[in-house]
Order: sequence, then structure tokens, then C-alpha cells
Amino acid sequence: LRAGRPPRHMPFGPESLTRVILVSSGKGGVGKSTVTANLAVALAQRGLAVGLVDADVHGFSIPGLLGIPAGTQPTRIDDLMLPPVAHGVKAISIGMFLRDGESVVAWRGPMLHRTVSQFLTDVFFGDLDVLLIDMPPGTGDIAISIGQLLPHAEVLVVTTPQAAASEVAIRSGLVARQTGQRVIGVVENMAAYTLPDGTVVDLFGAGGGAAVAEALSEPGSPVPLLASIPLSPALRRGGDVGDPVVIAEPDDAAATAIRTLAAQL
Ligand code: ADP
Repeated sequence: LRAGRPPRHMPFGPESLTRVILVSSGKGGVGKSTVTANLAVALAQRGLAVGLVDADVHGFSIPGLLGIPAGTQPTRIDDLMLPPVAHGVKAISIGMFLRDGESVVAWRGPMLHRTVSQFLTDVFFGDLDVLLIDMPPGTGDIAISIGQLLPHAEVLVVTTPQAAASEVAIRSGLVARQTGQRVIGVVENMAAYTLPDGTVVDLFGAGGGAAVAEALSEPGSPVPLLASIPLSPALRRGGDVGDPVVIAEPDDAAATAIRTLAAQL
């Protein structure tokens, strides 16, 4: 990535045939990145050409979730960068550009803006059906930059069933809408799971996903709750080792919920 160079033309602008879907959440830790990585793989399993931009620059985790080895960099051809491909997904992340020990913690807004816009302009993804963008949690600088760069993008809002997550998730959906983006649905993650003896464990309560969907719905344009993904040791495990659950344990309940989500997009 080079500082100061003006971005070339935007391949994912309004005239592009690629669907751009931002995955947002109000706060961190709700499983947004885990869901995004698995959703990308599930879409690729359906035969779509899928790109994934890790715009969660302070908490980047996409390379690890997809099993891309540390130190992997894009392939450079002249001044284009070809993203690595993992499980059928072309993925790019700030983690691929940092030298050992380097961190983006101290970066200011303009630097973040330049980095994210170069992900979108200087990385050659080829013809994509879908570009997923793993957004940073909340409504900070990057969300605003991407809102300006991709005003036609669609938005998926991820929340847990808990009020603390759903209240801020509503705010992130409303901010996205202010920049002209369309909220296409809500994904509830870490929902109740069922033990082998039939006991239902709802660690994070219930109802957050439905509450966000209802709050973001407007007369004539309802926002559906598209998926409720249960708490799942297999989903967590797959993320830890870079082997997405939709491939590693396709019969797991979370894997099934994510595939069903992919089928609805
Ligand atoms: P975010 O991107 O919202 O900060 P992450 O995707 O990093 O969240 O997930 C936070 C943690 O929760 C990770 O350790 C992940 O493995 C775990 N996790 C996410 N979704 C689930 C789930 N449905 N069941 C169990 N663990 C989950």
C-alpha cells in the first residue's frame, strides 16, 4: 500500500455488476467476522465468485478465520495486487501488509480512509458476483469512508440476542442508511442452542435479532431477520484453526444456518 497516491477508478461503483454487501455490527465480539468468513465460503460453495475485504483494520481476523498463513501477501503484478484465495474466497486484509510487530492502532482517519480505498481500487479481484466487506464495529471513520466510496452497498447487520448488542446494532444500521445504503437484513448470532438431552441454552437471552429487524423496518420496506445462528463450539473451533465450519463440519447447526443465510442473499 502506498500513501499519497490517488485511487484509480472504483471497480465496485454503482455501474458494477458486483453486489457489495457490508457486514456491520454495533459492537465487537458478536461474531461478525466469524459469520462473514463463513458466509463468504458458503456463497463460494454455491458457485459464486466471492471477494472479501477485511475493513476491520483494528481487529482484523479474516486471514486467520480463512486459514491464510501469517505472512501471506498479495501477489504483485506491476502496481496491481492479486489477493490470496482461501476456500474459494479472494480475501484481502490489512494483516497482509503489516511488518512483524507493526500495528495500525495509532493510525488516524485519513490513513485509514486511504488504506480502505486502496483495498477497493488497487486490489484486482476480477469479476465478482459478491464482495463482502467485514466492517469495523460501530460507526467510526471507516464506516463513513466506505459509505462515501460505496453508497449503493447493501448492509447486513449482525447482533447477538442481548439488548446491549441489539441497541447499538440498530444505531449502526441507521447510520448506514443515512449514507444511502440499504439494510437488507439482520443476522442474529450466538442464539440459543439445544443440548443433546433437549435442554435449550440461551446464554445471551433471546429476541435481539427480531428487535433490530423491527427497529430498522420502515413502512413499505421491511428489514427481515434472515438468520439466527446458534452458539456453536464447532463454529468457534473452525475459526480458531482457520477451517470454516461450513466446510469442516457442514452438519453443525451453525453451519446449516449460515448456508441457509447464503441461499437467501
Ligand atoms: P466480531 O467480529 O464481532 O468482533 P468474532 O467473529 O471475532 O466477533 O467472534 C468473537 C468470538 O466469538 C470468537 O472467539 C468466535 O470464535 C466466537 N464466536 C462467534 N460466533 C460464535 C457462535 N455462534 N458460537 C460460539 N462462538 C462464537
